[in-house]
Amino acid sequence: MLIYPEMNNTRLGTDSYYNQIITGHRIFGKDYKCQCGEDEIIKHVLIECPVWGQQRDKLPKTWLEKEIHEVVHLPGFKTYAVNIVKYLFDSRSANWTD
Ligand SMILES: [Zn+2]
Repeated sequence: MLIYPEMNNTRLGTDSYYNQIITGHRIFGKDYKCQCGEDEIIKHVLIECPVWGQQRDKLPKTWLEKEIHEVVHLPGFKTYAVNIVKYLFDSRSANWTD
């Protein structure tokens, strides 16, 4: 059984990466710059950033015209988004002094 978060109750508890995405702000609350030089906020990384354009090409274009909270529950978008946030987190953890 799938349980989707409600708009006013977005905590899932068990999936910290997904939680980062559905809050829609800075990744892990850190004041980082994206690889492209923009502020690294969830919306930028997942919807706008050219660094992730190749991954984004696999998604339906209509998804990218919506707000994140409208598409984040879709299984395909969730997988895409969690993979990117996990990658960013793992790369920071491996090189935290960067
Ligand atoms: Zn960027």
